Amino acid sequence: MPTRQPTRAPGGRAECFDVLDPATGEPFDEAPDHDPDTLDAVVDAAHVAWREWRSDPATRTGALLAAADDVEAAGADLAPLLTREQGKPLSESYAEVARTAARLRYFAELDPGSQPITDGRPVSSEIRWRPLGPVAAIVPWNFPLQLASAKFAPALAAGNTVVLKPSPCTPLATRLLGSVLSSALPEDVLTIVTGGEPLGARLASHPGIRHVTFTGSIPTGRAVAKSAAASLTRATLELGGNDAAVLLEDVDVERVADRLFWAAFRNCGQVCMAVKRVYAPARIYSRVVEALAHRARTVVVGSGLDPVSELGPVNNADQLARVERYTAQALSDGARAAAGGHRLDRPGYFFAPTILADVPSTSRVVTEEQFGPVLPVLPYISVDEAVEAANGTGFGLGGSVWGTDLDRAEAIVDRLECGTAWINHHAELSLAQPFAGVKESGVGVAGGPWGLYGNLRPFVVHRPDRPEEA
Ligand code: NAD
Repeated sequence: MPTRQPTRAPGGRAECFDVLDPATGEPFDEAPDHDPDTLDAVVDAAHVAWREWRSDPATRTGALLAAADDVEAAGADLAPLLTREQGKPLSESYAEVARTAARLRYFAELDPGSQPITDGRPVSSEIRWRPLGPVAAIVPWNFPLQLASAKFAPALAAGNTVVLKPSPCTPLATRLLGSVLSSALPEDVLTIVTGGEPLGARLASHPGIRHVTFTGSIPTGRAVAKSAAASLTRATLELGGNDAAVLLEDVDVERVADRLFWAAFRNCGQVCMAVKRVYAPARIYSRVVEALAHRARTVVVGSGLDPVSELGPVNNADQLARVERYTAQALSDGARAAAGGHRLDRPGYFFAPTILADVPSTSRVVTEEQFGPVLPVLPYISVDEAVEAANGTGFGLGGSVWGTDLDRAEAIVDRLECGTAWINHHAELSLAQPFAGVKESGVGVAGGPWGLYGNLRPFVVHRPDRPEEA
């Protein structure tokens, strides 16, 4: 059971909604559809639990370290359930569970400390960091556990309590995680609520919430920002991306093709920081298209529970429809499918891994985030043109440059307008790094110590140096 379920609405009970297996398209279990009216009681309880939780950092550290051990020990239960509702291969679900535990450990041991302010005045001034109160965490369906822990681990470590709302497409592994965590965490310190809208909107606008931390799409991010503005609540928004990979003339195509392919197709392309556009020099364009298409044609697609599957289904019917729509539009705009280009003729939400060549740069699959197993490859003549195209959208999450001359690649990567950039890699993140999209890809900073401070407020104390000035 989750650490706390909302009290039921007067005279009523939480209804349930179906949870579908994306590998079959069929329901396999259900989750409570919590009535938004129950949020008052949930947030009140989170305030009460906060009084004790914020008071003792050492107890918090111990509880979060124990929680990390419990998560790791529950991997054999969490990972298959995650695969069942999300679709990803089982090995990736195990990796997600491991990253969830690692994140709890990382933040458990991070100390915000206190900092003196030295400005020449005869007072000792010091910044002491204080928690905010109940935090609302709202996350999407692509990495349900990992993204939830990216919210609750720093928030709890900072001394806040958390009300977590997973996507209605993937509520079950998160509920099980809540149950696992309930051994180490006191009651009401982490509460999980599940259901469809307006549950998220009501949570984000709840006057008892002190920080809304959201991961999801840009349109929903705008709605969350508006909701949080209703009670002038701090909002951290980690939003969509449309990352470009710029290949340079000296790139070793065969050497990087696998890495580049998986940077785009891992988790069936449903990664905020996946490579979603490739820019290749015209001279090597056809080799790049063919190297990627070869991998797309040979990768094993199937249920994530089947150990031979390398790529699972798209998570849900709406997402599949979007991928299909953007691909069909690109093809009618004149693109060529070097691999795939269609959904697979089998039950479930499967789409053939797709490499699109000769795509007009104005096609939506290039300008927007399609978030699926589709990769457009675009030719360029000059590197300036490629950098301009890479930077030429409203997105700014990640980007990469691929080549053999690392100094030249470094000079070009420095020109990308995004929060994180790589040379010859993509989407490899450290727990210790700041994570901050630019432009429409995000507001605020998550990750590393910055993620901890994002859940704290500075409290400044001035004390005279000499008693006579007191
Ligand atoms: P989404 O924006 O549709 O939903 C995200 C969450 O918000 C879900 O829990 C959903 O139920 C909830 N929600 C929906 N409407 C709401 C509202 N009005 N108020 C409050 N909450 C509401 O996103 P999705 O389709 O679940 O996930 C895919 C998106 O997430 C992609 O755009 C992807 O790039 C983005 N994403 C970003 C990051 C990042 O770190 N920047 C990481 C993963 C995914």
